[in-house]
Amino acid sequence: MPSLEVTGEVRCPNGYGAGERPQWDYYSKCIHCGLCLNACPTYRELGVEMDSPRGRIYQMIQVERGRLPLRESFVRHIDLCLDCRACETACPSGVEYGRLVEAARGQIEKYYKRPPLEALLRRLFFRGILPHRRWLDGFGRILRIYQQSGLEKLILGSDLLDALPRRLAKVARLAPRMEKPFFTKRLGTVVPPVGSRRYRVAFFAGCIANLSFARLNDATVRVLARNGCEVVIPTEQGCCGALHVHAGMRDLARRLARQNILTFLAEDYDAIITNAAGCGSVLKEYSQLFEEEQREFLARARRLSSRLKDVTEFLAGIDLNREFRTIKARATYQDPCHLGHAQRIRTAPRKLLAGIPGLEFVELKEAEICCGSAGIYNVVQNDMAERLLDGKMHRLDQTGAELILTANPGCLLQLRAGVARSGEAGNRRRVMHVIELLDEAYGLNAGVRC
Ligand code: SF4
Ligand code: SF4
Repeated sequence: MPSLEVTGEVRCPNGYGAGERPQWDYYSKCIHCGLCLNACPTYRELGVEMDSPRGRIYQMIQVERGRLPLRESFVRHIDLCLDCRACETACPSGVEYGRLVEAARGQIEKYYKRPPLEALLRRLFFRGILPHRRWLDGFGRILRIYQQSGLEKLILGSDLLDALPRRLAKVARLAPRMEKPFFTKRLGTVVPPVGSRRYRVAFFAGCIANLSFARLNDATVRVLARNGCEVVIPTEQGCCGALHVHAGMRDLARRLARQNILTFLAEDYDAIITNAAGCGSVLKEYSQLFEEEQREFLARARRLSSRLKDVTEFLAGIDLNREFRTIKARATYQDPCHLGHAQRIRTAPRKLLAGIPGLEFVELKEAEICCGSAGIYNVVQNDMAERLLDGKMHRLDQTGAELILTANPGCLLQLRAGVARSGEAGNRRRVMHVIELLDEAYGLNAGVRC
């Protein structure tokens, strides 16, 4: 019997408590070779073993054995992980690190008491706003008034933010732009294909994306329709729970997953499509939420996952409509971690870009390294996120690209923040989702909503 085997009991007051926890089956695959170290953004920045994948797995095992308390030190190193899963790509032993860190965060969420302000903000955001469409829309509308009335500009330009706690000030500076109209209005509609119908697909619209990436969602639907898709946008869909999974809020993520499973399996679709790599990765892994709890949903979770496709994956796999206009520009591509590492999709977006006439594509050095976005990481771990963004912007500068493409809303926000702070020269560059460029290449984006 291996010495580290989990017995299911809490071995000492410092060990894990009841509920999902890092499992022997997964962490025992780690042979401590260290080949993941240089792939890990936090290890590359800090050079600290405890902030490497191997070091974090070691700490998880020590907590399991009751040799390390589930307290500040452990929480700090686990919180600093981006859950980017670059270590999974590098690992020769097949360690599914994402599962481990998410389970460890589940334990932290249940058994560690965070400082009161942090706990309150987490509660408000994850439980109060994200899961409830009406609250989210209401919050989005207030934020839009604040942004468009000039009040935001006034406050950001004043000393008022200095009076706020540091984290609140960061939230104020990094708030995503609210777009008009919200994509929420499109829920419950069916968009017909252009020409004859080749596919019937469901579109997963996201939660915050409905407010701050409404035009990206419009573009995605237009491009799909242009490729013979009848696009169904189900009303009852909701937040996928990706941010909750990454934050360790597994019970809430399960609740959200159940709602989406019931919604998207209510009809038969050729594919369920998302344009958000972070959402897609969790939707494809919904079954992990039902392996230990509520197992009656496991088979349905697997069925949903088998139909789930990232929009680039879907389009690269069909006979693509190539009626593109020429786009003369130099472009590069940043791999979203949850597309490249978690879903192993790297070729599809590049293949789509290669089909656009006139586009000069140049590879970005270390395109697979996280830009620092990682869900809400750029807010809660702002210092590390800024360091990672600095490195990313430096490598983007080297490409000389005027178009920076990626395939995830979170990465778009982070890279746009990087471009905005690089001044006038930087502002000439555009940061776009691959689908938005395809939309332009079809000549479809002149403010027309299909
Ligand atoms: S998920 Fe990313 S940040 Fe976390 S240990 Fe792995 S490589 Fe490092
Ligand atoms: S590469 Fe894999 S096996 Fe090697 S130390 Fe990292 S996680 Fe462990």
